[in-house]
Amino acid sequence: MAEKRDYYEVLGVDKGADKKEIKKAYRKLAMKYHPDVNKDSDAADKFKEISEAYAVLSDENKRNTYDQFGHSGMNGFSQEDIFSNINFDDIFRGFGFDVGNIFDVFGFGGGRRQGPQPGRDVYYDLDISLEEAATGLETDIRVPHTKTCPACEGSRAEPGTGTHQCAECGGTGQIRQVNNTFLGQMVNIRPCNACQGEGSVVEEPCKNCNGQGIVRTTSSIHIKVPPGVESGSRLRVPGEGEMGMRNGPPGDLYVMINVKPHKLFQREAANLYYEKPISFVQAALGDSVEIPTLDSTADFKIPAGTQSGTTFRLKGQGMPHLRWSGKGDLYVKVKVVTPRRLSPQQKELLQEFADISGDEIHTSEDKGFFDKVKDAISN
Ligand SMILES: [Zn+2]
Ligand SMILES: [Zn+2]
Repeated sequence: MAEKRDYYEVLGVDKGADKKEIKKAYRKLAMKYHPDVNKDSDAADKFKEISEAYAVLSDENKRNTYDQFGHSGMNGFSQEDIFSNINFDDIFRGFGFDVGNIFDVFGFGGGRRQGPQPGRDVYYDLDISLEEAATGLETDIRVPHTKTCPACEGSRAEPGTGTHQCAECGGTGQIRQVNNTFLGQMVNIRPCNACQGEGSVVEEPCKNCNGQGIVRTTSSIHIKVPPGVESGSRLRVPGEGEMGMRNGPPGDLYVMINVKPHKLFQREAANLYYEKPISFVQAALGDSVEIPTLDSTADFKIPAGTQSGTTFRLKGQGMPHLRWSGKGDLYVKVKVVTPRRLSPQQKELLQEFADISGDEIHTSEDKGFFDKVKDAISN
């Protein structure tokens, strides 16, 4: 950080300047550097610099400390303490500036009345079947969350009773504590406990919400789950989370989708996988079989001579794509099942089959490259 400039130099006033001159100098500079009128990138820094100089020089204790110890003397004050005596309403009276914005420029705010606070998001787990994930689904879910109290409409006061200014803090929402130290007076500002920084207290707390202004309730919320969702997909329902505090916006509801495992199909993105057991006779001779799909069945012709483990693709029989039109595919993996028990007649026929075939096993209908070469040589 650059070396801090002398406060008198910053405001362009003499060491002996009186309060009036200091205020006049600050006002002039503040009009020039206020971020509402000055769009230069360093206007905010400038504005903070002149405000700090003014805050110190316009306060007798801080000015004395500064005159004696320079900038190092200010280390005993927190940022908030330093700025605490600026009355922006007074400085900018009649100029139409948004005084509230000034605090954002300084980037601190612990001692001020607390501003709106957005409500937290709420998460809801929804289990659906693979079929529901394929077609999409509309349903009502019951979600626990906080809502504005319907009895007092968030005012915290029993209907028919009013609120009055907090006596503890005089309606400012903050408590100012002045301590005398060897560096001068130290000002400590904290939110008022009596009114929780609201500045007002209710005469009689609302019985429905115990004076909280919010109630915990369960709402029925209608949701639409689009076709093609997967486990881990989440639906956002804006504004159905927890209530915001002090007029802050409510949080959002996130419905977390979990697609339950299916007894027939495995899923990978939009594709489905299914294992079809067939007999070795079906594999050898070929057959027409029925393959289950998500919504009905499909006829499929197994070609003669199909090997166990061969995978066939049924185009467009998978899951719908979530983000674009069309569907994935259904992959059918054929599994040839060897019979465990055979009747005497079956054994006899198979033995006969074996006698005719011999022990030779043909792994492929087509001869490989080397077999063809061998044949060529031997002929
Ligand atoms: Zn209430
Ligand atoms: Zn108070």
